[in-house]
Parts: sequence; structure tokens; C-alpha cells
Amino acid sequence: MASPDLRRIEVATAPPYTVFIGRGALSLLPEWLLENLPGRRLALVTDAAVDRLHGAAVRERLRSARIAVETVVVEPGEAHKTRRTKEQIEDVLIEAGISRDAAIVALGGGVVTDLGGFAAATYMRGIPWVAVPTTLLGMVDAAIGGKTGVNHPRGKNLIGALHQPAAVIADVDLLATLPEVEYRSGLAEVIKAGIIDDAVLFDLLAAEPARVLAREPALLEEVIARACEVKARVVAEDASEVDRRQILNFGHTVGHALEQVSGHAVRHGEAISIGMVAESRLAVGAGILDPAHAEAIEAAIAALGLPVRLTGPLPGLSVEALLEAARVDKKSRAGRIVCVFPRRIGTMARGERGHGIPLDEDLLREVVAGLGGPAGSP
Ligand code: NAD
Repeated sequence: MASPDLRRIEVATAPPYTVFIGRGALSLLPEWLLENLPGRRLALVTDAAVDRLHGAAVRERLRSARIAVETVVVEPGEAHKTRRTKEQIEDVLIEAGISRDAAIVALGGGVVTDLGGFAAATYMRGIPWVAVPTTLLGMVDAAIGGKTGVNHPRGKNLIGALHQPAAVIADVDLLATLPEVEYRSGLAEVIKAGIIDDAVLFDLLAAEPARVLAREPALLEEVIARACEVKARVVAEDASEVDRRQILNFGHTVGHALEQVSGHAVRHGEAISIGMVAESRLAVGAGILDPAHAEAIEAAIAALGLPVRLTGPLPGLSVEALLEAARVDKKSRAGRIVCVFPRRIGTMARGERGHGIPLDEDLLREVVAGLGGPAGSP
């Protein structure tokens, strides 16, 4: 059914589904819907920025296949990933008389796929949804794995559901309009995928940073497909996040703490880039990772234009505050901070109780002090 030049990755969750990747993959959407979902009706959930750029073209494709489309446009950005926005989506769906045989198509970045997927999880006790990610992060991470949800003022993603999409359609051409800062943010997750489970992907990124940054389509397709495969493998092995899924948190223990302590002045992609460098050093300090691999990780991250340490002091940032943020984050066990560490590039270490390895706080103190900002700040 798919045009032969699209790559397909099967995600072996329950239920399983396919991720279609390639230039022009969007042309598959109407055909896929007609073959796989019974109703000729759907709600297109998107954000205002994506709608302006790509909404009309997507609607046109669907309508020319005689699929009725109700569009719900939400405000862009993390601040709108809320219960209130989900309610807005639900109100439009109910007003439009969308019934159980309809589906949601979420067209956008991770904010939109998290919102659209969560709305689909609970609308009429659950309807199918299709993810059409439009950011690099969405393609390699957020749209795959079935985690959907919204934020609460007290924390990110506190309310949500596990609801796998019926398909993911990743059209690489849509990335042409993505702002540079968002593209680099996605690249951080791509490098992470290489470090945790695909040394070939890591080598590709390390060898071709200029072509990756130039968004060369053929290379981008390869890189996205490999990163998707990592996420697909990990979530299929451990759909309920018992152990294996923890490896996706590489760079995120320190990274999330940096985001939180800086009040999100350090953006997600930057924070996890610095986090991956810091956690690689922790792995070296713990005798788990060869220093040469930690250096290669740092060099690859820097070559892709991502930060490897804080560029300046940040008010309120201190080693203590970082430690505290990491402690209250989900990444602690009995009060001790838990990290996942690479054993070498492409393979994560296992401790006595799985991938999560409790961290030596003195070592963390040392590494955090070397991040650049905290050491110099009060
Ligand atoms: P995002 O959805 O906010 O998109 C970033 C910005 O780019 C937005 O302003 C958006 O309007 C714009 N944009 C999107 N596509 C565009 C395009 N093609 N051209 C121009 N502009 C475009 O952010 P994101 O980085 O994609 O996703 C972050 C979210 O994903 C967070 O809420 C995070 O919690 C979530 N996430 C979820 C999972 C999961 O497993 N469910 C995994 C990782 C991240």
C-alpha cells in the first residue's frame, strides 16, 4: 500500500502499528485512513503555527479523498499543553457531532501529538488517532510509544494515558519550515538514540554534522529512521516502562534538573545535551564508560551546534538546587538519584537492579560543578 520508497518501522506494542517515514509521506495519509479506519470523518488537531504552514494542504488531501475534516486549532507551545486545551478540543468534537467511528489526526510537534493522543484516549472512551509529527523531536520521539497527556501547574505530563497511535506518518519534507532552534532540539534526542542503542547512528551523526545541520533529505531520512527504530525497539521491549524504557532518560536526570532550576531558560534540547555530557562524565567517574567514549559524545554534540556546558551563570542556579530538582523529579529511588549510563556508545550499562543505577552524590557534585554555570553562581 505504501509507496515503495517510504521506510516502514513496525512498533511491536499492543496493539502494534507502523511508522512511515520519507519525503512526501503525507500523500499516504488519505489512502491509509480509507483502508484502515471505517469512518470517513476525522478531527484534525493542530496548532496555529503549523496550521498556517501546512494545514490547508493536509485538509485538501483529505477532502479530495472525500474524508470530512473538522479542524481544531490550539495555541502553539508548551504553555498550552493543559487540561483546558484538551477540553477545548473535546468541546469542538462534541459540537461537531464526532462519533466513535471517527478518528483524530494530530498534526504538529510533541505538544500537539500529546494533546491529540490524550483527547483520543478519552473521547467516547477512546477513539483511534494517527500522529503526523511535524518536528524532528515529534518524529523520533514524541509520536512513538503511546504516551499522551497534558501538564499540570505542579509538573509536566502529570495527567495522561497510554494510547498507541494507529499509525505514525513522518513526512521529512515538513521539517523544511521548522525553526533552527527546534530542529537542534530534536537533534539532541537523535544523538541520544545513537548513544543508547545505535552506534551506527552515532557514527553517522559524528561523521556528517554539516550535512545533518543542512537537513539533507536523504541523510535526514536515514537518521530519522534509525532514531525511530531505537524508540520503537525500546517501547516494544518495555511498553509499561518497568526497566528498559528507562534508557530513554539518558541525559534527562541532569537535563530536567537544569530546565527546572533555570525556569526553562535553558531549553529542553540544550538541557539534555549538557545533561548527556554530564552523565557521560559521571559514567566515566563510576568506572562504567571509557573516557574516550565520553570525549566522542561531547565532540559529536558540540559539532551539531548543541551546548556541552552552560554558557553563563544563571540566577538561582546552584549545585544544591540541581541536586534537589533531580531528587524531586521522577528519577530518584528511595531519595537517591538514579541515572542510566552508557557502557560504551550504543550500549547502556545494567546495574544490579536493571538499567537505573543509583548515583554517587559526591561524584555528581564534582561533575555539576564543572558544568560551567553552577560553579560560578552563588
Ligand atoms: P512543540 O510541539 O511545541 O513544537 C515546537 C514549535 O515548533 C511550536 O511552536 C510549533 O508551532 C512549531 N512547529 C511545529 N512543527 C513545525 C513546522 N514543521 N514548521 C514550523 N514550525 C513548526 O514542541 P516539540 O519539541 O515538538 O515537542 C515537545 C513536547 O513533546 C513536550 O511537551 C514534551 O513533553 C513532549 N514529548 C512527548 C513524548 C512522548 O513520549 N509522548 C516524548 C518526548 C517529548
